[in-house]
Amino acid sequence: MKIIINQVSAEGLYLKEEVKSAQLDLKTDLIKFRSPLKLAARITRITNALTVDLNINAVIFADCSRCLSEFEWVFDKDVQLNYPLDSSDVFIDLKPSIREEIILDYPIKPLCSLNCKGLCVKCGKNKNEGGCNCGFT
Ligand SMILES: [Zn+2]
Ligand SMILES: [Zn+2]
Repeated sequence: MKIIINQVSAEGLYLKEEVKSAQLDLKTDLIKFRSPLKLAARITRITNALTVDLNINAVIFADCSRCLSEFEWVFDKDVQLNYPLDSSDVFIDLKPSIREEIILDYPIKPLCSLNCKGLCVKCGKNKNEGGCNCGFT
């Protein structure tokens, strides 16, 4: 998402954009995206600075670190970004800030649910799906 500074009028500017996760380099071994991220921004300008009120919305897929099942969660975050302006600036690229805001919230150990029971240490069955027959309790 790029803001062309002279398009920001006194009333402010609204921008909506869908961005592919690859453009933001967001994929990791644990985290996947299957649809574009949705960005909505309200940009206001005071003399030497831009303020961007941004909403980032995305559906993220991850493998649970306990039971190894894939699950999805909806990432929804409101952030405010501030950019001091230089008279030579023509546009501002929000991409690095957006990437940072998302990655900051990545879980170190993703869990499909706080109550995830994980896998049976003996037979490997997913204990969220019921008891196993291996007799291990
Ligand atoms: Zn789990
Ligand atoms: Zn078992």
